[in-house]
Amino acid sequence: MMQVHRTNILIIGGGIVGVAAAWYLAERAAKVVVLEKDTVGSKASGVNFGGLRINGRERSEMSLSIRAREFWRRIREHVGHDCDVEFTGHFETTAEEAKMAVIEKWVHMARDFGLEPELLSPVRIRERYPLLGHQLVGGCLMAEDGSGNPRLAVPYLARAARKAGADIREHTGVIHVEHTGQEFRVLTNDGQEFRSQFVVNAAGAWAGKIAASLGDVVPWLTIAPQMVVSEPIPYRLRGIVDCDIGGRYLYIRQIPRGNVLFGRGPGRVDLEAERAFVIPQNYFNSSNIALDLVPFLQPYHIIRTWSGVEGKMPDALPVIDWSPQVPGLLHAFGFSGHGFQLGPGTGITISELILDGRTATDISGFSIGRFKAAQAPAPQTGASVAAASS
Ligand SMILES: Cc1cc2nc3c(=O)[nH]c(=O)nc-3n(C[C@H](O)[C@H](O)[C@H](O)COP(=O)(O)OP(=O)(O)OC[C@H]3O[C@@H](n4cnc5c(N)ncnc54)[C@H](O)[C@@H]3O)c2cc1C
Repeated sequence: MMQVHRTNILIIGGGIVGVAAAWYLAERAAKVVVLEKDTVGSKASGVNFGGLRINGRERSEMSLSIRAREFWRRIREHVGHDCDVEFTGHFETTAEEAKMAVIEKWVHMARDFGLEPELLSPVRIRERYPLLGHQLVGGCLMAEDGSGNPRLAVPYLARAARKAGADIREHTGVIHVEHTGQEFRVLTNDGQEFRSQFVVNAAGAWAGKIAASLGDVVPWLTIAPQMVVSEPIPYRLRGIVDCDIGGRYLYIRQIPRGNVLFGRGPGRVDLEAERAFVIPQNYFNSSNIALDLVPFLQPYHIIRTWSGVEGKMPDALPVIDWSPQVPGLLHAFGFSGHGFQLGPGTGITISELILDGRTATDISGFSIGRFKAAQAPAPQTGASVAAASS
């Protein structure tokens, strides 16, 4: 006979969004279950570049990003480990005058939020970043930004969430979600049944399928940013550099142990196989940009390259909103290549929406209704999501 479990809140997806939400909810004594088809943090949340930036965010993401920063600043206190988080600054720079105007505009906007970004002249860039070889016209340094280790962050968050009482189940894929009229009925690939008042759709690149199976059809895409890492070399590049050289983009950082990481992409996504594949030509291209920007890297070896599967919305902003079709269904997906930093801010936002019915985060830019398609189709509650969870 099928086992039936009862909970108040069921979260689909154990990435940083789902697990952070579980932690915040459990800390407030809510009864919460996370179902993760693989292991926690095994998808985008565990393979990303680890950038924790506010620098360059859209105005509509500033409130969420600033709230997330509060978590990252106190990560050791929250999860018992610093997860290699360090605030060494994020520097957005360019060789293009036109792009510099965009950066300057952002600096003015950021000051409205009480932030203190610093505009660097070419002279200041040479002083602070002597390794950067290219003719850069200026840039913006957010000294309080930083980076963390994605391999550690979600597992430690999950450990803290479990300690607070969250029930996190790995290797448990959701294959069917329906609303019975009173509550959600959720079936898993190992024969379990869950009943819950709320469902949070935090299934990353697979969330669009789950949303569609419940009648919320949105035009979601998938992307696969591609990463490269060098052998360990003397530690000389402190902080993240994010640059545009003649329309060629790259972000790069060195970890204190010495490895230099850089990325852009894209790789190739196979959603059904749940994998992203590296495209060799793109790895060569990003390596060439890295050498243009940091000629010091020339004699060293690349030791690894990889990619990861990520959901993207057409406007590159996430969806964080209640379903217009199904009561108690909360969507949080489509982080479009920059959701690692936002994850904990999204987690607290989800906990407030569910437990308080409102949130202190400005989420007005993340409504599901901004995509016309979301309102168009008739509800199809009860459709299978098997294709989204092999
Ligand atoms: C290579 C790369 C580099 C990046 N660099 C950065 C960066 O520097 N800074 C930054 O802020 N962001 C970065 N990002 C983006 C960031 O990693 C993501 O936005 C973020 O991790 C998304 O978190 P998530 O929890 O929404 O999704 P995920 O981490 O993908 O988690 C979703 C989870 O849901 C599970 N799931 C899906 N369907 C089901 C189902 N049916 N049943 C059960 N479980 C299910 C999946 O297995 C997965 O574990 C990068 C992304 C990639 C891929």
